[in-house]
Amino acid sequence: MPNMIPEIQPISTIKVLFATAECAPFSKVGGLADVSQALPKALIEMGTEVTIITPHYGYANDAGVKHEQHEVLSGSVNLGEHRKRNFRVVAVINSEIFPGSIYLVESAEYFGRKGIYEDEQGFPFWDNGERYIFFQKVVLEVLKSGNFQVLHANDHHTALLPYYIKTGNLDSPPKTVLTIHNIGYQGNYSPDILNLTDLGWGGFYPGGPIEFHGQVNFLKAGILAADAVTTVSPGYAAELLASPEIAFGLDGVLRSLQRPLSGILNGVDYRIWSPETDPSIPVNFDMENLPKKGINRSALLEKIGLSNLPDHAVIGMISRLVDSKGFELLMPLEEELMALPLQWVILGSGEHRFEELFRGWAERHPDKVIFFYGYQPDFSHLIEAGADMFLMPSKYEACGLNQIYSLRYGTIPIVRQTGGLGDTVHTWNGKSGTGFTFQIYSSFALLQAVLQALHVFKDKEAWQHLMRNAMSEDFSWERSANSYLKIYSDILQ
Ligand code: ADP
Repeated sequence: MPNMIPEIQPISTIKVLFATAECAPFSKVGGLADVSQALPKALIEMGTEVTIITPHYGYANDAGVKHEQHEVLSGSVNLGEHRKRNFRVVAVINSEIFPGSIYLVESAEYFGRKGIYEDEQGFPFWDNGERYIFFQKVVLEVLKSGNFQVLHANDHHTALLPYYIKTGNLDSPPKTVLTIHNIGYQGNYSPDILNLTDLGWGGFYPGGPIEFHGQVNFLKAGILAADAVTTVSPGYAAELLASPEIAFGLDGVLRSLQRPLSGILNGVDYRIWSPETDPSIPVNFDMENLPKKGINRSALLEKIGLSNLPDHAVIGMISRLVDSKGFELLMPLEEELMALPLQWVILGSGEHRFEELFRGWAERHPDKVIFFYGYQPDFSHLIEAGADMFLMPSKYEACGLNQIYSLRYGTIPIVRQTGGLGDTVHTWNGKSGTGFTFQIYSSFALLQAVLQALHVFKDKEAWQHLMRNAMSEDFSWERSANSYLKIYSDILQ
């Protein structure tokens, strides 16, 4: 007699291929890299089998990372009728970085150059569309040779994968999840890029699944084809569904999904971001010994050459210097902000206008502002440990990680209430709350929030209470990884 009980996939055996354009510590531009390292790690700890696949960028930061590696696959893929490009996939095994395999996709032509998305002058590579079509074609080859049940794609660089899988002819196609980390980047290209994809022109017509305002849009194709679409905070999910401005026009597409968009808050890998154990800060501390944070504060000020003024608050910013981060709000405030008892330490790289803004502040107010243009992971830990406050005035923020790191380091966030910032920072009310927030996207509102923070900073007892509240918050990955697991098992039913 046949067994009538449906076979239920035990969660622990789900095999996932996690495709991403960035993965720390090999490559990092922003939060996608942190998440691509930490989420798969958390999923593995919960019994899932996750393999990460990511490009091996030529300058990748793996010089100091000892690892075994072996070739998994090599071959070539076609990009249109006349172009054939070789690839090699190597598996890196290093349990200190990641408890599973990381597949690095090698191609001297596409990933051998310096830079991830941009050249050294900050110009996006002219062939980015082609580079990530190539990468995704290699991922498809890996899928053919493995028995993955779920393909987890991230952002537009890998968003064509669900579309390929849905419209293609893989023998046993995996189910697909697409996570949106930032909808501001959609992979919009002129239609002729379709010639490189082998996808044909069937989906390209006004309102078609791969068409958006006359262009090819990788992210739209992925959103419509994936079995589940997620984003990185509940707040951002709600805003994406409600606001064409925040969704950069894809709100209608997101609202049309049968399985609603889910917002799963990013977590933090507290093995990397914890003041108790952080190896890159001068003195470790926790909420039981807050004076030790003061030692980090002094070390930070000494390193950057500012005087240690106890009645001044040290305010940190670490960011990509791009429009979405809201720095334009600071532009009209120089006079007001420089009159306050604040010392600024700013680390970032990106758009010239913001570089000019902060360089100007630092030149005109050398006793109050230190600006470092560049990308310095170790220094970012020292800023988190040494600063009193951390400012993120974002126009929009899918999740944001630095405010969550700041909470754990007792570095009080001042944030605009948008997306994940609103989900993670709660307004101080004299008793409960973990930071200072403002809602309206205006310079005036930002200034008010800074003034409120400074007002509380003067009251040392209240400030310590606030620091303890912040440091008690727990955004570890476990809960979020569970939500992803639930989605994997739902779509596999
Ligand atoms: P986004 O992904 O939009 O850049 P997130 O807050 O989600 O913003 O993540 C940014 C990550 O990149 C954080 O880990 C942050 O510390 C890091 N980061 C950004 N700029 C720099 C920089 N100049 N130096 C070091 N780390 C940086």
